Amino acid sequence: MPRLDRHSFAYTGLLAAVFVFALLASWTPIGSQIDNYVYDWNFRLYHPKPWPTESIVLAIDEGSLKAFNGRLGLRKALADGLERIASASPKAVAVDAILADRSDEESDGALERAFRATRNLVLPSDLLRDGSGWDDPLPRFRRWAAAVGHVHLEPGLDGVGRALTLEKAFAHDRRWALSLEAFRVSRSATILETPRDLEVGGITIPADYSSGRTMRIHYRPPEFDPIPVVTLKQLADNPALARQFAGKVAFAGVIAQTETNDRWLTPYSSIPMPGVEVLANAFDTIAQQKFLTSAPAWMVVAFCIFLTAAAGVTFARLSGRWAIATALVILAVAHMAPYQAFTRGTVFPFSPGFSTAWLSIAAAAAWQHLYVRRRLVKSEAERDRYQHAVQFVTHEMRTPLTAIQGSSELMSRYALTDEKRTQIAHLIHSESKRLGRMIEMFLNVERLSAGEVDLKKENFSVRAIMAGCVERAAPLAERKQIRVTIDKLVDETLTGDRELMEYAFYNLLTNAIKYSPTKTEVTIFGGRDGDRCSVAVQDQGIGIDRKEVRQIFQKFYRTKKAEQSGEAGTGIGLSIVEQIVLQHGGRIEVTSTPGKGSCFTLVLPLGQPVAAKPLAAN
Ligand code: ADP
Repeated sequence: MPRLDRHSFAYTGLLAAVFVFALLASWTPIGSQIDNYVYDWNFRLYHPKPWPTESIVLAIDEGSLKAFNGRLGLRKALADGLERIASASPKAVAVDAILADRSDEESDGALERAFRATRNLVLPSDLLRDGSGWDDPLPRFRRWAAAVGHVHLEPGLDGVGRALTLEKAFAHDRRWALSLEAFRVSRSATILETPRDLEVGGITIPADYSSGRTMRIHYRPPEFDPIPVVTLKQLADNPALARQFAGKVAFAGVIAQTETNDRWLTPYSSIPMPGVEVLANAFDTIAQQKFLTSAPAWMVVAFCIFLTAAAGVTFARLSGRWAIATALVILAVAHMAPYQAFTRGTVFPFSPGFSTAWLSIAAAAAWQHLYVRRRLVKSEAERDRYQHAVQFVTHEMRTPLTAIQGSSELMSRYALTDEKRTQIAHLIHSESKRLGRMIEMFLNVERLSAGEVDLKKENFSVRAIMAGCVERAAPLAERKQIRVTIDKLVDETLTGDRELMEYAFYNLLTNAIKYSPTKTEVTIFGGRDGDRCSVAVQDQGIGIDRKEVRQIFQKFYRTKKAEQSGEAGTGIGLSIVEQIVLQHGGRIEVTSTPGKGSCFTLVLPLGQPVAAKPLAAN
């Protein structure tokens, strides 16, 4: 398994954060509204195979009201209609008209007689608006009913009736929905309750107790033969129409717009549907077992994890066109999944997949673009610099090499005096030593950073080393008339590799001289702070730009100012210094003001004298 490096760790963390954010965003009201819109849209998009309808609407429309003397004649009209269809013996008759108040005796009596003649009658009950309980039918009506069902319908915030609450309770007084009761009595069955569903007449209705036993209404698509609607007026005009009610479950109710505001928008249409037709659709959903169940939460979360992971892997592994093409496939899956699920009767929310897919892809693409590109640019720059430096070093090396070659040729070709021979031999010796030093330095930095150098452990005095360095650098300083002073440098004993440490101090000192104009000062100072000691070299030189300060420790990096100064250098010294200091458990700090000067400080742990602790050498 590949090791999870810092980059992969941060990338995974980012995607995890995006995933959580996207999931939370999809649970907001806006998210659920989007889910609803897509749900409705799926209805319109999907064209299932037709299914039969077992319901029929006995409608009281404007024409019926007019024919039966308006609102006052409503109960008589209903009684008339019910008596006419009773002969066809429908499986059940559900009435969606509140019958809780008395009307005139003649009408109520007629209606009671009609109810008595109706088999499997289901009467409605609604919650009273003042919240005091159920508004049940008058006892004289109720006694003829096989059941009383609630007609309490609650559309969504957007007025679309998508679901029906099958069970509604006031205090401990509960009613099943009218459509469910109509189904139950039509099957002469009982309702068996489990926490997850209801079982009626051999049909399992997925209606979770925890979700308030809601059931999505699977409306009949408009391209199907509609649920038949027979108005009271049509029935009165043509009594033969009663035959249509044979073997059906009838839903009787007012559809006249003047008389009722009981209308719902449906997923199919923005034209409201009368409540009684909604109830008939709910009944058919049960009777035809056209249930639309919600996908379980774990499945939604798993799907979103899959989308985020797919986006993450895509942009980590692929680039360019392939990455874009795969991202498009992921988006297509996220967009299509709810529809595909819908065609299988499962309602899969749209917004979780939508938001996780888009946000994960955006985040993964942005990360890979910014981070990986930055690394690429950086490594390209490093490679350029390295090549530059190698060219430079080889150029530097060529000078002593040419001198050696030339001198040795002279010696072999010509008869030289002894004095001349000795002179040339000295030159060859010193040039080859210089070459050796250069190669050594080049290799040192690599070995140091790889931890391949065995550090010696010896005690040495900071002051003594510094004094030695100042002495060695004196000719350089004199040439530029730079005064080097050692100011307040406490004499501490450090433990470590004396030679390397001397190299580090010397490098800082020669840099300070190199990168300073003539007639300036270089000051060395330092002190003790707890168990650490600091040594600083301060100059009044060209300084370093703020943004370049971190880079000067990179191999072969030289500041623009240093290049322009005409001072020779390889840009390798400070990276060796940093490695030496790190290997000794210390650190290096830089403060610098361009044009004013720089101060390089080495902070080193104070050494335990080697002799005092012989075991430390193991
Ligand atoms: P070199 O001096 O050979 O270029 P170094 O690794 O010693 O390489 O230093 C790296 C770079 O840091 C230098 O090229 C220079 O740009 C900058 N630098 C180091 N010391 C100083 C200083 N005292 N003042 C200004 N710039 C400095």
